[in-house]
Amino acid sequence: MLSTMQDVPLTVTRILTHGMTIHGKSQVTTWTGEPEPQRRSFAEVGRRATQLAHALRDELGVVGDQRVATLMWNNAEHIEAYLAIPSMGAVLHTLNLRLPAEQLIWIVEHADDKVVLVNGSLLPLLAPLLPHLTSIEHLVVVGPGDRSVLDGAVPQVHDYEELIAGRPTSYDWPELDERQAAAMCYTSGTTGDPKGVVYSHRSIYLHSMQVNMTESMGLSDKDTTLVVVPQFHVNAWGLPHATFMTGVNMLMPDRFLQPAPLADMIEREKPTHAAAVPTIWQGLLAEVTANPRDLTSMARVTIGGAACPPALMEAYDKLGVRLCHAWGMTETSPLGTMANPPAGLTEEQEWPYRITQGRFPAGVEARLVGPGGDHLPWDGESAGELEVRGPWIAGAYYGGAHGEALRPEDKFSDDGWLKTGDVGVISEDGFLTLTDRAKDVIKSGGEWISSVELENALMAHPDVAEAAVVAVPDEKWGERPLATVVLKDGATADYVTLKGFLAEAGIAKWQLPERWTLIPSVPKTSVGKFDKKVIRKQYADGELE
Ligand code: ADP
Repeated sequence: MLSTMQDVPLTVTRILTHGMTIHGKSQVTTWTGEPEPQRRSFAEVGRRATQLAHALRDELGVVGDQRVATLMWNNAEHIEAYLAIPSMGAVLHTLNLRLPAEQLIWIVEHADDKVVLVNGSLLPLLAPLLPHLTSIEHLVVVGPGDRSVLDGAVPQVHDYEELIAGRPTSYDWPELDERQAAAMCYTSGTTGDPKGVVYSHRSIYLHSMQVNMTESMGLSDKDTTLVVVPQFHVNAWGLPHATFMTGVNMLMPDRFLQPAPLADMIEREKPTHAAAVPTIWQGLLAEVTANPRDLTSMARVTIGGAACPPALMEAYDKLGVRLCHAWGMTETSPLGTMANPPAGLTEEQEWPYRITQGRFPAGVEARLVGPGGDHLPWDGESAGELEVRGPWIAGAYYGGAHGEALRPEDKFSDDGWLKTGDVGVISEDGFLTLTDRAKDVIKSGGEWISSVELENALMAHPDVAEAAVVAVPDEKWGERPLATVVLKDGATADYVTLKGFLAEAGIAKWQLPERWTLIPSVPKTSVGKFDKKVIRKQYADGELE
């Protein structure tokens, strides 16, 4: 029997029209480096998004599901693109501006992007790539920048403001199928070619609703969120669409992502929430320790993308800022879990829950798979690879304009679940604790050592700014941990002290590293995570002692 309910598609268009009317007064504030930031209401952002859709269709000839790429910082114009491009039926493709040139070229060609919206400040990065970007027909320059670097560039160049000026502020939005592509993101491709994840209108809509739920980020129009996580990193974790749905004000840092301007922004604009990877919060902590600022408005922070060291959480607790741990991937839109403890606990009882990766929302089903393919119990002890499925979880990768969708065996199970490549345990009440990425775990004499556990313990030492532990080959044990440590300015702790500290913290003797090296900073990936691949290579090349 079919239901008697209306079958109204869940689309980004609906998020746009709802946000710009019902929440028309909410604001997008963009840091400009000028004395006054740029402020735009949702109503204005919505009108400008509508004008952009007209410009893309009527002037640049974007039709159907053509791809429109962005190479942009987090700012109001980027939000306009997020709303306009999917609503007109085209596909928003956010480009990671920190990827190496050859990967960017590969990705643009693979996605067959027709148009690129680029911030003027990023033209020097894009210009040398243009001769290789054969699919691009139009370049739209957003904001100031030196256009002389485009000399001789192939595509037609437009100015964003001139392009949208005077165009209608209403649009006969197409009726879209909610399963249609709305946006795409490529994973950074640590092995092999980058892989394209294509989000649907439906997946974005449902994911946005989940982000807004109290058990997730739980924001409302009384909040302002500081969106530090780049819009090219899994759609800024879904925040732009989620916030437009509920009228959450957005504070966008544009290119001012260094600790000092971030601290200034927080003190002045008083966001109530923020989202970023741990390295951002490490940097900000060092900044406010040296030059104190008031961060207390920012009562809640969503931290994820890499394991959050408990010591970092404690340090922010002391500043009146509560870090809430979340886990996700490009393939999961990205919200997979969030560590909001269950009700009715004291602060002390909450702590063991807060340091997990968190629990799964109804939209994410999870299972743990052991080495032999058996499904493991949720007992807080049985460790296996995490597999997930749900309406905002990828079921395949983009196969290119003329290719079939890709379902590599190492990423998707026979019955269609996503193999996350993350190893961990799940408690009886559904809280996930990740011990490692499968590829980072240290296999020593047939036993596994968690690199994350060693890192977290090391980063709890007052002299340690950052620590990354990787597996290195060992004749006797197969692999052993190498601890690479960044000391705080003026700190003097040596290996013997740090090793003793790990032992005191309860790390088993056989897990203690015997290889140590001091490094000036931990290499980072394009989205600011520890890049262990680079550390392993440096060790193999004899660059680390
Ligand atoms: P990349 O693979 O380039 O880092 P993603 O951003 O999709 O791209 O990364 C997803 C991976 O990041 C996850 O599979 C997991 O290994 C790691 N990750 C994300 N959040 C957390 C977290 N809270 N704790 C530990 N690891 C995390």
